[in-house]
Amino acid sequence: MTTAVELIQKKRDGGELVAREIEWLLSGYTGGSVTDYQMAAMAMAVFHNGLGPAELAAWTTAMLHSGEVLDLSHISGPIVDKHSTGGVGDKVSIPLTPMVTACGVWVPMISGRGLGHTGGTLDKLESIPGLRTQLSTQEFKDVLEKCGLVMGGQSETLVPADRKLYALRDATGTVESIPLISSSIMSKKLAEDLDGLVLDVKYGVGAFMTDQQLARQLAQTMVGIGADHGVKTVALLTQMNTPLGFEVGNASEIKESIDVLKGGGPADLVELTLAIGAEMLMIAGVAPDEQSARARLEWTRSSGRALEVFATVIGAQGGDPGVLDDPSRLPSAGQTHEITADRSGFVSVCDAYKVGVAAMRLGAGRERKEDTIDPGVGITLLAKPGMEVSKGEPLARLRYRHAARLEESLRVLDGAWRIADERVPTEPLIAERIGA
Ligand code: URA
Repeated sequence: MTTAVELIQKKRDGGELVAREIEWLLSGYTGGSVTDYQMAAMAMAVFHNGLGPAELAAWTTAMLHSGEVLDLSHISGPIVDKHSTGGVGDKVSIPLTPMVTACGVWVPMISGRGLGHTGGTLDKLESIPGLRTQLSTQEFKDVLEKCGLVMGGQSETLVPADRKLYALRDATGTVESIPLISSSIMSKKLAEDLDGLVLDVKYGVGAFMTDQQLARQLAQTMVGIGADHGVKTVALLTQMNTPLGFEVGNASEIKESIDVLKGGGPADLVELTLAIGAEMLMIAGVAPDEQSARARLEWTRSSGRALEVFATVIGAQGGDPGVLDDPSRLPSAGQTHEITADRSGFVSVCDAYKVGVAAMRLGAGRERKEDTIDPGVGITLLAKPGMEVSKGEPLARLRYRHAARLEESLRVLDGAWRIADERVPTEPLIAERIGA
């Protein structure tokens, strides 16, 4: 008889698990016979010793088949999704998916919650009053059929192994692992019955892979898994040394996403949204080249079509579409505190990791699995690299509810901004393209 302890010891000591053992482990974990503490030990063993190619394939397949795999063969149109490996201020999925849907692509998105110092699409969406992301498989399909887009989470029936393991990794220091990230992402995406997938693989201080070389390896691993399962997969390697956009939090990131859908929004966020969207339209075959794809995406903003799609999805998932016209209906913590520049000059660094951890300390993320998110707290960045500031001018505004949390957050933010005498060139947002 196999026992969890034996498998943990095998992986801990550098052995290779066989497919049968991996299936046993992950179905036991999903069903409850393998405990959280055993799986935490296994995740740490994988974190240190990795998974070989056969182990990774078996691990991803076992996660994928821990629940139902959608059959969307009745949908007559391209089905394409995107996923990010996680960043600070990365709300791209929220404006992007209605824009892509408005161009005729079906998007059945299964997302995640905040992980470590990074935010999660589900937590952000749930800051819209009434909106539910925990949908049954039938509800998930119904919303997709009605709106062309659905944004749900892992559930009891959709990739339940990832639902449990994702939350466990978040609380046990086992996020930053190429096999654990790639199996987590690809099991969710392969459950969606996709024709194509675009991955945003982040590198930099605010990403799980700080090193570009490791991010490239992660991208190649996921592109390979996609190809093995017949899904055209493209990855963009994008920089995450600086937070994306000006808002880091949950409700405030929804507000910034609404700005993008209305034709505004910060330049870096808009650029990445258009770049990923163009890849999605090309993979879907609805645009022949990048230029025409970008033009179509821009049209969805200027015509209001993308906003209409978003309104329909919000309503179909039980939320209040009134937030689109009146974002003050979104929660916001009442108390604010500003951080100011201690000298004049040009901002050269705004450290994404520090900003992400500081937002988490305010209550925008979880320290433990059981913690609840405070959707109204967050950080508005008022100065980012390339911008000129004078001594005493605000660099950021923190929205908080508890003074003790503010104190902790301010401690983390110490040294997050650097100010130089000269303007330093800003790093390119998109470094590489890998795949299909
Ligand atoms: N996104 C996921 O879905 N899983 C990870 O492990 C990291 C980012």
